Parts: sequence; C-alpha cells; structure tokens
Amino acid sequence: MNYSKTKPTVSLKRINKITLLTIMLFCINSRSISQNAFVYDNGTNWQSCFYDIIKSSDPSTFKSVSFETKKYAEMWDRDANNNRGAWINPKSWIFRLSYVDGIESEIRIRQLGFKKDDIMNLAKEYGKKMGQLPYCLRKGVKYINILKSDALFGGNNSKHSIEITIGKTSELYNRTGNMEEILFHEATHAALDNLYKENWIPYRDKDSKFISKYAANNPNREDISESFLVYVALNFRSDRVTSEMSKIKQSIPNRLNFFKNKDLNIFPFSKK
Ligand SMILES: [Zn+2]
Repeated sequence: MNYSKTKPTVSLKRINKITLLTIMLFCINSRSISQNAFVYDNGTNWQSCFYDIIKSSDPSTFKSVSFETKKYAEMWDRDANNNRGAWINPKSWIFRLSYVDGIESEIRIRQLGFKKDDIMNLAKEYGKKMGQLPYCLRKGVKYINILKSDALFGGNNSKHSIEITIGKTSELYNRTGNMEEILFHEATHAALDNLYKENWIPYRDKDSKFISKYAANNPNREDISESFLVYVALNFRSDRVTSEMSKIKQSIPNRLNFFKNKDLNIFPFSKK
C-alpha cells in the first residue's frame, strides 16, 4: 500500500525532472541553433553583393610613400614552421606611408623574391588601397608587411600589423574584385579586435544570427571583422548594398548599434 502509494509519487517526481530537463535541453539547443545561424555562407568578402563596397575608383587618403631604410622587420609568415605560421625577422625594405589626414604607417617589403626596381610601385599600389580604408582602421594598422607568397592575407591586433602576400592569392583577389574588402577585413583585425575584450560579446549574443558562416565558426576571432564591413557598407555606402539592407538589419541589429555607439571616424567614407 505504502509502496503502491509511494511509487506513483516517485514516478511523478521523475517525470517532472525529466520534463524540466527536456525543457532545459530544448532551450539550450534552440539558443545554440539561433546563435549558429548565419546570413551569408562562407565569409562576407566572398559575397558578390559586397565586392563594390570599395571600388578602385573611390577616394583615397593616400598622400605619399618614401623609402627610409633596409632593416630586419618582424612579420607573420604563414609558410614558415611547416605552414603552421611563425613570426619571422627577414631583411626588408622600409617605407613611410603618409595619409592626408595625418596618419602614418610603415610598409615593410620582405626582400626575398622581389626586385628592388619594383618595390616603390608596390609600396605606392598598396598605400593607395590602404588609403581607401576608414580612418579608424588606418589608425590601427602600424605595419603593412608585404611578402612574396601564395598564402592568405592576415591581420593581427597585438602587433597592429597586416600581412599582404604577393602571388596566387593577390592575383585571385584582384581577379575577383574583392581586394579592397579583404584589406578592410584584415585591417579590422589589426585595429578593432581589441573590442572583443570590451563589451562586444553581450551585443553579439543578443542578435539572432551571425553575419556569415565564417563568423559563426569563429565567433571570437572573425565576428568583428565580418560585421564591421557590412556596418560601414550599410551606413556609408548604402546605395551599393540596397538589396541586402533589410536582412542585415534584422539579423545583427545589436552589433550594428555597438558600432554606431562607438562613433568611429570613417573618413574618407561619407554619409549617403
Ligand atoms: Zn579574418
């Protein structure tokens, strides 16, 4: 009797526990599903709708490059250490890059594989492209490292450097028409990745989606670089991304607000 009376009580408790657990698991699962959702497959730089956020004909703040010296300069080489990458200190040509709004950066060209006759044009070419980026990014890129290599470009916040590789990768970006947007992405790593340590993550977690699969797969490394490009496009070159605006605004409104609240200097972009 006691047993028969007790048994259903225990069962009910178990059922309650199981129900509670199921609800909890469902909640956790739904949260992770929405957090893992994304707007664009791959990365934002590989969406043709974003290839013209910066056109080669857009204004550049580039002022001048001048040759300074030859020296050993620290840079990240993805080919080193059996393609795992390493900081190296190769012999390099050093240029001073000046922009019209007073910012200066150092361009370092690793000597290996380049002819001295070609380096001034190379420094100018990338100085002009860097000059098309917003002030807040150029300000955060102290070193522009150029290497002969087929590896991917890169950007680094702790050294405030970006790596540009001249080879198959740069040919691909030029052919595709997303060279400027790739430089924007890498410069964002160098200039703004420190925002992960500020209050980026609570804003990110309030949104229902990531902007791209690449950001979703690397939420603490690629989310800011992936999101900042579309924030700038939406707010300052909106005429070039008209068809994308509503779905971006619906998907990452809190991230867009985060950048808006920062009130970053985006010259030479202008409000449209
Ligand atoms: Zn990246």
